[in-house]
Amino acid sequence: MLRWYDRAKRDLPWRVTRDFYRVWISEIMLQQTRVEAAIPYYERFLALFPDVESLAVAPEPDVLTAWSGLGYYSRARNLHRAAKQVGATGYPADYEQLSGLPGIGPYTAAAIASIALGQPFAAVDGNVIRVVSRLANDPGEVSSPLTRQRFSREAQRLLDPRRPGDFNQAMMELGATVCVPRSPDCGLCPVARFCAARAAGTERELPVKLKKTAARDVKVDLAVFTGCNESPAIAGSVFLVQRAPDERRLAGFWELPQKNLFPGWRGRRAKEFVHQIVNDRFRITVWRGLTPKALPSGRWFGPADLAAIPLTTISRKALQ
Ligand code: SF4
Repeated sequence: MLRWYDRAKRDLPWRVTRDFYRVWISEIMLQQTRVEAAIPYYERFLALFPDVESLAVAPEPDVLTAWSGLGYYSRARNLHRAAKQVGATGYPADYEQLSGLPGIGPYTAAAIASIALGQPFAAVDGNVIRVVSRLANDPGEVSSPLTRQRFSREAQRLLDPRRPGDFNQAMMELGATVCVPRSPDCGLCPVARFCAARAAGTERELPVKLKKTAARDVKVDLAVFTGCNESPAIAGSVFLVQRAPDERRLAGFWELPQKNLFPGWRGRRAKEFVHQIVNDRFRITVWRGLTPKALPSGRWFGPADLAAIPLTTISRKALQ
């Protein structure tokens, strides 16, 4: 595995360092974001907050703005809280202390402990579960806690304690590039001769997953106002409303107002798109029209201002 990884690994910006802070940022970003999508955010985030001290003292809206577009904003809020904690107490020294930080579960603690601290903890994500289930030809259903424990034990048994960070990344890399879900490329696999599923011809049937519940359609109509006769200064700007600070999701974020706030307003259907968040499939229609006489509480933002505020991903897409 390690020989293959040294030769075939993708060139990714977080792989050139074992710096704790950089590894930490990359692991939080990669929790729910694809590698290619995370790279520009990772680089921009580090340019804005080059160390834990600068992140700890940053105002929360600045952190959310830097995260804007990546989604799953609780990651950014937890990261910010954790940075304040680390700023006060220093970096964690091991897996246990890492697990005590906000936003760090068993997978992330193991990934950071192995990559940044060289400690032998197997990091078991979806890619690793797939590889382990196939290597062992284990038909356990992946959402079962017992199956997960078995896969974790097996991943821990396989881990090379001399290079735990590289070994974890090799397993993930194999799952991401060769041992992929539908058509594993077993001819290129460095561990094909140890693979029980390959020998049994069951690799495409593993890992076993319960059927997903069907996505729920949610219809959303958003309003974009194209001008206001009374105030030429705001021509070219967009009107946004802000989510309340006590909302469970996206508190403090700015977004386009929903069309149903303006009964009787006539807009033109400008664009439709779909945006999926977990099981909710948002079917968005963007409407454009003249600014209504009465507006709810909100603000106008010029195009240049939009990059400096936390804006929901759906509104960002709608404005694009
Ligand atoms: Fe995955 Fe095929 Fe390699 Fe087995 S041989 S680990 S199924 S890529």
